[in-house]
Amino acid sequence: MADLGGRITVERAGPPVRVTGVTTLPDRRLLLVHAHPDDESIGTGATMAHYAATGAHVTLVTCTLGEEGEIHVPALAGLCAAEADQLGGYRIGELTAACAALGVTDHRFLGGAGRYRDSGMMGLATNEHPRAFWQADLDEAAAYLVDVIREVRPQVLVTYDPDGFYGHPDHIQAHRVAMRAVELAADEGIAPAKVYWTAMPRSVLDAGLETFTESSDNPFAGIESADELPFGTPDAEIAARIDATDQYAAKEAAMRAHATQIPANSWLYSIAGNFGGEFMGVEYFTLAVGDKGPGAGPYGWEGDLFAGIAVDGAQRSPVAAAGLR
Ligand SMILES: [Zn+2]
Repeated sequence: MADLGGRITVERAGPPVRVTGVTTLPDRRLLLVHAHPDDESIGTGATMAHYAATGAHVTLVTCTLGEEGEIHVPALAGLCAAEADQLGGYRIGELTAACAALGVTDHRFLGGAGRYRDSGMMGLATNEHPRAFWQADLDEAAAYLVDVIREVRPQVLVTYDPDGFYGHPDHIQAHRVAMRAVELAADEGIAPAKVYWTAMPRSVLDAGLETFTESSDNPFAGIESADELPFGTPDAEIAARIDATDQYAAKEAAMRAHATQIPANSWLYSIAGNFGGEFMGVEYFTLAVGDKGPGAGPYGWEGDLFAGIAVDGAQRSPVAAAGLR
């Protein structure tokens, strides 16, 4: 266990001095930076559940409350931004339930709940709201994240690629803020050893398109080729494949907790056959910062985000390592 807080004993001459009021974190620490409540579950839910279940410390930072989301529960439609504008607060509850389903206990909102507002889709007037995350001062927002990095000292950080995986302004901004925070953390000597971006291998996308062609509920209807989609990464560029199919149920439960956002009859829950396990329980990442660890298969995909990292206390903060906190 790393001395990242907790009740620790300071070794020095004389009687031991107890430092109280801080907690002790596991050796492996994973930080995920997501844009809205539900992104964590849809994009990385299996990975989060996998690491939480295997004893790593999983920290989720969500950048906005998702105030501009659509509402798929008719009875709650009046919470929308144009009416009561209460959706953001409601979604805190959904996210809390999703984290519980994933076994994740450390969740924060960037700068505190409500600091940044959902910017809405690209080009909408909501992009201009003074609290819109799209308008955030990069260094100010990154400083909030550095506070979390300083406290938790994650070895691995996960966020989106420069296009925010699919182009939503808050996802692009989450990428920018996370990468700026890594730079600032590096200046303090506390940067995570590895930074990953979420990704979907081209081969998986192609297989999915083919599977859905047969389906009556095809979310990709009208799309002839994966070339038309805003995501899809060549297999050779993928660095890690996290097989967490045993966490499929946790991921589905977490997604169902976001009931305002994902209709109960969504195609996401009705994916046919073996492809469903691959689509829901296996998640892929490219490596943006750090050295790739040992892997397997034709492209040497890592099976563990911590592959190649010495985690046993190697990343302790100087203060904690000295037993003084
Ligand atoms: Zn999102």
